[in-house]
Amino acid sequence: MKKIMLTGDRPTGKLHVGHYVGSLRRRVELQNTGDFDEIFIMIADAQALTDNADNPEKVRQNIIEVALDYLACGLDPEKSTILIQSQIPELCELSFYYMNLVTVSRLQRNPTVKSEIQMRNFEASIPVGFFTYPISQAADITAFKATVVPVGEDQMPMLEQTKEIVHKFNSVYGETLVEPKILLPENQACMRLPGTDGKAKMSKSLGNCIYLSEEPDEIKKKVFSMFTDPNHIRIEDPGSLEGNTVFTYLDAFCRPEYFPEFLPEYENLDELKAHYQRGGLGDMKVKRFLNNVLQAELEPIRNRRKEFQKDIPAVYEMLKAGTEKAEKVAAETLRDVKAAMKINYFDDEELVRMQTAKYTEE
Ligand code: ATP
Ligand code: MG
Repeated sequence: MKKIMLTGDRPTGKLHVGHYVGSLRRRVELQNTGDFDEIFIMIADAQALTDNADNPEKVRQNIIEVALDYLACGLDPEKSTILIQSQIPELCELSFYYMNLVTVSRLQRNPTVKSEIQMRNFEASIPVGFFTYPISQAADITAFKATVVPVGEDQMPMLEQTKEIVHKFNSVYGETLVEPKILLPENQACMRLPGTDGKAKMSKSLGNCIYLSEEPDEIKKKVFSMFTDPNHIRIEDPGSLEGNTVFTYLDAFCRPEYFPEFLPEYENLDELKAHYQRGGLGDMKVKRFLNNVLQAELEPIRNRRKEFQKDIPAVYEMLKAGTEKAEKVAAETLRDVKAAMKINYFDDEELVRMQTAKYTEE
């Protein structure tokens, strides 16, 4: 079986370091292994409109920002097909048919959608499109016959929903759709990177992000105002790592080579953590180290982005070409789906023959 990757992001803002450790970094690594037959990266603008219907301009503006962030991180259009969701009508058609295979109560149980509804104060007025976006995500994944979907932990319920739709479809209509596998980050800190405010998830909607394109002084400001252990008041006090965002970020970003470079008095992160827990290590010192680490990680991304920013028309051309290529694949899947569901009246010669026979026998 072919190895096909699909994943994507909503163009609701520039991409942040949560996206990077949760999915983006992995995508680029996988892309560069050359192990995949096809890679599809989707800018999910139609999904972004499900909770931004009254703000289409925001979505429109952010398409290019997401595309630039992709290129800056090393996604390569020669190896990965980058596409815009709304420009592929086949995805809507697939969603429409999948809707018959999912119950309202099943959608209501989705924990990610539940918490997103709460966050957006949608309780009394949930847009139907938003409520059903897990179904549309199943359409995206299956349209490209994805076998692997590298995402953060918040996407687990969506992958579960997709698998259920695949099983249901295949059992009712015959083996047609491919079941995807979720690929979560290996490191706990990367599964769901917290915001700089210590809140459970860094999210564009919560305004607690460090963006990939952030300038050095902004990064520094954000790192130095980050949430740590509120009970660690004097340097000599023992500190706690639990919920300590600065250490969570070090778990997500620190590489062994950063110690000799920026903090040679420690061998590794374990030593640094032990000292913090023992007492005698101040937050400022840890923050200075984290700032150096993040600056080192983000500088090459920011610089590459500036190069791509010089030719915006070329970025739109790349998106157009990727979308056209992707549409062909989605159209093929839709054809298979409609044939399996027996709604292919005009290209089924057998159907016409049978109906003719029915009336000639009379
Ligand atoms: P929005 O607030 O508009 O939903 P978002 O910041 O949640 O935006 P998405 O576009 O919904 O971003 O998510 C894109 C991808 O990034 C998904 O794979 C998701 O799991 C991952 N991701 C988003 N935020 C984080 C995070 N804080 N930690 C790890 N992964 C994340
Ligand atoms: Mg999200």
